[in-house]
Amino acid sequence: MSFASTFSTLPTTRLLELARQTTPAEARAALGNPMQDLTDFARLISPAAGELLETLSQRSQALTRQRFGKVIRLFAPLYLSNECINNCSYCGFSRDNPILRVTLSVDEVLREARALKEQGFRNLLLVAGEHPKFVSNDYLADCVRALHAEWPGLSLEVGPMETEDYRPIVAAGAEGLVVYQETYDRAVYAQMHTAGPKRNFDWRLETPERAYAAGFRRLGIGALFGLADWRYEALCVAAHAQYLLKNCWKAQLTISLPRLRPCAGEFEPLTHMSDRELVQLICAFRLLLPDIGLVLSTREPAKLRDGLIPLGVTLISAGSHTEPGGYTGAGKDKIHHTERGRIVELASGSSEWAPPPGRVTGATGQFEIADERAPEEIAAVLRRLGYEPVWKDWDAALSA
Ligand code: SF4
Repeated sequence: MSFASTFSTLPTTRLLELARQTTPAEARAALGNPMQDLTDFARLISPAAGELLETLSQRSQALTRQRFGKVIRLFAPLYLSNECINNCSYCGFSRDNPILRVTLSVDEVLREARALKEQGFRNLLLVAGEHPKFVSNDYLADCVRALHAEWPGLSLEVGPMETEDYRPIVAAGAEGLVVYQETYDRAVYAQMHTAGPKRNFDWRLETPERAYAAGFRRLGIGALFGLADWRYEALCVAAHAQYLLKNCWKAQLTISLPRLRPCAGEFEPLTHMSDRELVQLICAFRLLLPDIGLVLSTREPAKLRDGLIPLGVTLISAGSHTEPGGYTGAGKDKIHHTERGRIVELASGSSEWAPPPGRVTGATGQFEIADERAPEEIAAVLRRLGYEPVWKDWDAALSA
């Protein structure tokens, strides 16, 4: 049974009620349970468990050190294209936003990747909007093929595909596929996704399973916090992760916990999750799923990131740019608007969609990042906290 079928049978109403109304005594009992289940998880993300945050974070920290040691993996997003055929109300790349767009050539992608390599990165997340005309499956396979020899850790965050379409990309050397459901609330999902293939909730929900069938050995899932009730989203992500651990058991699984950031289109979050609640959620995930990777991006500010690192996070990005060409200015000479899939030359003059001053490219970014520190600065922080920054933890030769 696929997760889309399982999802419709989940007791989410009961679990959400627990997550909202757990008593302090029930929260303490859940915290003391060595074998956590979804009911314990619901209790540990409750307001009552928020009062036990110190004990919860100590447990999470101890478990993370036991399972992962004192190491943090580093990765960088490399944006290939900001073209998109979808309208997602919360995203700067939405097709109806008249932003400044570009798709990098394979050579330009290599230029960006080499700049990241000089900073130390060996794990790259290739990100692109969903646009078959500009970001074809062949183009993605070509990018992966060109990068594979020098970058052993390549993951993709791109529009969902059929299993058969993923296979050539895996064969070219990609090891990971990241796909966020954005929101697991069907009504909010329908409200947020107003045009394009992304409107199909179930198709997206089953993407990790198709990716696994095609041979990806790392899968990443998550929700975008700021759209629906964060406790509901967390319960669904947890259930999704449990399903994948059982049914796609050969893959390594990561969960990301992105909170909405300002972007083109100026979408305002519909719901709020406080910093303290984010800490609580990271710790609750660690107790439920001790071996899972937890990802923290540069969406969060420096001080909060530094505080979160010892508590349960295992994978962080650093020095990120969300605009294609953001590391080197690659593609700067072909920035354009796109209207109904057609490239429209820029009229002369400045644009309100241009990136902030100091950026090397003219393309618009997906969202603003909060932690702008350079990768070596982040690595120094990790060492100061007693952690080893890991730039590379996999080589294709290991699977030969
Ligand atoms: S979230 Fe993804 S699919 Fe939606 S507009 Fe942005 S890039 Fe396109």
